[in-house]
Amino acid sequence: MQKYNSVSGKVIYQLKEIVGDKYVYTDNEKMEPYSHDEVAGSEYMQYPEVVVLPETAEQIAAIVRLANENIIPIVPRGAGTGLSCAAVPFLRGIVVSVERLNKIIELDTTNMFIVVEPGVTTDYIQKTANASGFLYAGDPSSGDSSFIGGNVATNAGGNKAVKYGTTRRQIYGLEFVSPQGKIITLGGKCVKDTTGYNLFQLLIGSEGTLGIITKIYIKLIPLPEHSMNLLAIFPDLVSAIQTVPKIMSAGVAPVSVEFMDNLVVQNCEDFLREKLPHSDDGYYIIVQIEGNNEEVLEDQCVTIDEICMASGAITVLVADSSKIWKARKCVAEADRARSLIFASEDLVVPMSAVSQAVQKVVEIGKKYGVRVHCAGHAGDGNVHANILKEDIPEDKWHEIVPQSAKIY
Ligand SMILES: Cc1cc2nc3c(=O)[nH]c(=O)nc-3n(C[C@H](O)[C@H](O)[C@H](O)COP(=O)(O)OP(=O)(O)OC[C@H]3O[C@@H](n4cnc5c(N)ncnc54)[C@H](O)[C@@H]3O)c2cc1C
Repeated sequence: MQKYNSVSGKVIYQLKEIVGDKYVYTDNEKMEPYSHDEVAGSEYMQYPEVVVLPETAEQIAAIVRLANENIIPIVPRGAGTGLSCAAVPFLRGIVVSVERLNKIIELDTTNMFIVVEPGVTTDYIQKTANASGFLYAGDPSSGDSSFIGGNVATNAGGNKAVKYGTTRRQIYGLEFVSPQGKIITLGGKCVKDTTGYNLFQLLIGSEGTLGIITKIYIKLIPLPEHSMNLLAIFPDLVSAIQTVPKIMSAGVAPVSVEFMDNLVVQNCEDFLREKLPHSDDGYYIIVQIEGNNEEVLEDQCVTIDEICMASGAITVLVADSSKIWKARKCVAEADRARSLIFASEDLVVPMSAVSQAVQKVVEIGKKYGVRVHCAGHAGDGNVHANILKEDIPEDKWHEIVPQSAKIY
């Protein structure tokens, strides 16, 4: 493995020259938030030697060149909402936070794009687009705090990916600082770009390994005038999940098809202190549809209702959007409130195999005597399984987690 050097006093001095004294942190108290992401546990954290908060791409390029000259590792950091420790500086070195690159540079409603810096929160982009009658279709559940740069670097999925695709489908171009410290732009404001290699797509999902993203050209679409949410409640997991392919092939083009198993429903109810329907026995499928014609949407609701009832649903309700999405989006937070430490598995399988995957996960949970909560994006085959530590002793927990992972 490459042998890296430590950050010397001289390098700290040079970093201060680049970004200014107050944007270079070396004391542990200030560096603590940058030493971990959303995964709890001392083995998942590592303090860097220094955290730097640049404000421009030019400053980032200068930092990268300085790190190269001195053979020091760099980890780019967004909001730190990741669940896989990709922003944790396990080799120490320099953390480059993009939190000060937080401006919306241009909103062009005629050509339907928005240009932003990487430190803007996903939620702010959504709200800015909505205020002008447009939709930014990226919608990870962490959107109120994650940064758009982090969404691009992880190719974040989320609740609208069934219809609109993951983050990579929302991007027209990127500016980034290369590992050599050069500022490069790939793609840009044009919808169509058919020549040459599609290199900027390589950056999307590269988790900071190919460069530091400093500007993002994002697609907007007209905001649908109406949106409806249906909550179909089933008596068991299998009938709930097996209904999903039928909804997907019914020609209603849903925006979201989410599921929550009964333990998740109960846990979210406890966490929110709000009664959720059939929380004692229900398995949820949440379907969101959008469009400009209310009558068409109503017809689609009837189709979805008929499919669900024919597949064994207890009931199908027109859901209060804010209430049902608050419940769906709080799953991880509710799990954390119940058990500070939990292992988070993120599986993707063909849509028809979701039920099998969830059953297997539940079986594994039973075998090892651990509580497993399953929810996720059923419409694109993405299952989130949180394995809760609760009061399992530390040594037993460290035995269980790798053993259970081997079975996948
Ligand atoms: C409650 C909760 C719900 C979540 N829901 C979803 C979901 O629905 N879908 C989903 O996909 N994820 C989800 N996540 C995971 C996480 O929020 C996403 O991966 C998010 O995109 C990370 O963004 P961030 O700004 O926090 O990035 P960070 O966690 O800071 O970094 C993530 C990775 O991106 C790199 N990176 C960050 N910024 C840049 C940059 N400017 N240039 C280059 N590399 C960079 C980092 O080095 C790291 O490798 C969820 C997390 C939580 C806690």
